[in-house]
Parts: sequence; C-alpha cells; structure tokens
Amino acid sequence: MRILLVEDERKVASFIARALREHTYAVDVADTGERGLEMALEAAYDAIILDVRLPGMSGIEVCERLRRAGLETPILMLTARTLVEQRVEGLDAGADDYLTKPFALAELAARVRALIRRGVGHGAAILRFADLELDRRRRRAKRSGASIALTSKEFALLEFLLVRAPNPITRSEIIEHVWDCHFDSGTNLVEVYVRRLREKIDGEGSLRLIHTVRGVGYRLGLPE
Ligand code: CA
Repeated sequence: MRILLVEDERKVASFIARALREHTYAVDVADTGERGLEMALEAAYDAIILDVRLPGMSGIEVCERLRRAGLETPILMLTARTLVEQRVEGLDAGADDYLTKPFALAELAARVRALIRRGVGHGAAILRFADLELDRRRRRAKRSGASIALTSKEFALLEFLLVRAPNPITRSEIIEHVWDCHFDSGTNLVEVYVRRLREKIDGEGSLRLIHTVRGVGYRLGLPE
C-alpha cells in the first residue's frame, strides 16, 4: 500500500516516513501543499497523511481541493494543536480522521491501518485465500498454518495480490501501490519480487496460488 505524506518539517516527515516504511508501506513525501495536491492527483495512493500547518496552501485547503476534484482516497489530518475548531475544520474539509501532534508512532500506524481498511475494497485485518493467511496487524504470513518469513516489500506485494484476489493486477498497478515514486520502472524488480514471493508461498507440494496472466500481469487465485 502506498501513502502520500504532506509535511513541510523535514525532520518530522522523515521520522514518520521511516516508521511507515517499517510497516511495509511505500511512502512519498511532499513538502508543500501545492506539491501534495499535484502528487495526490497524479498517482494512486491508498491513503494521504496531511499536515494542517503548511507554508502557502494549508492542509485544509489541500483537502478541500482534493475532495472537490472527486478524489476519495482516505485522508488523515495532522493537527498541531488540540483546538477543536481545527479538527472540525479538517473534518468539514473532507478528512476522514485526524491526529493531534505530538503523537506516538504506534498510534499513527494504527490510524493509517484503519483508514486503509475503510478505503474502498481493502478488506479486513486478516486477508485469506485458500490456506494462505496474511495478518496485516502483526505483519505475518502463514500457509497451511506454517509461518512464512517475508521481507517488507514481499509482504506489501502479497498484500496487494490478496486485496485484489482472484482478479489479476498489472505490473504498473504493482509499481504504483507497492513502490514509491523513486522506483525505476525500467528494472525487472517486479519480476524478481514475484519470483521470490512464489518460492516462499508456493513451495513444494502446495497448490500454486500466484499465477502469471499473459499480457496482463499476475493474479493470486486457484489454478485454472
Ligand atoms: Ca507543518
């Protein structure tokens, strides 16, 4: 899942981004409201974290403009003070939730998780298909009850395949939702990750679940 973080304070932004990446999210950072607006309308994010206090265009205004443009991506607003008015303003502008600074990173991660889950089609805390199980809260994968160790990118890729299962996903959708904007789409990294994930998920003796769909991309589902 890919997140856009709009925050002008560089230290705070890198602190939040690092924590979210540890939770296997791909994160892009925008340091102004104008840039955030542009990026949010360009790429397919699964959630947006928006600081209220930004130089130039405020977080409130960015939020209003995104909603006016018809964007339905869940938005978490970061408010600097405990002012009730600021929260109300944020929610009125179309934010789904807010968090008051300073906050614990665990709290932020929990809010983001809940927000993405509420987003269209993103399903439950535990994703299942056949004997494969992915616990999004504990970041664990199991097949037939046996734990499978996954790297954070492998986890993110499997999560995206499961969210869309049994429908196929294209290579560019994978790049959009699993990697951030610094990803070089000219590489064969997607193929490498799919292969590694296959080796771990579809081990010897188990039913194959990850399939290549010729001319489209990949799908997680039962063999045809
Ligand atoms: Ca700020």
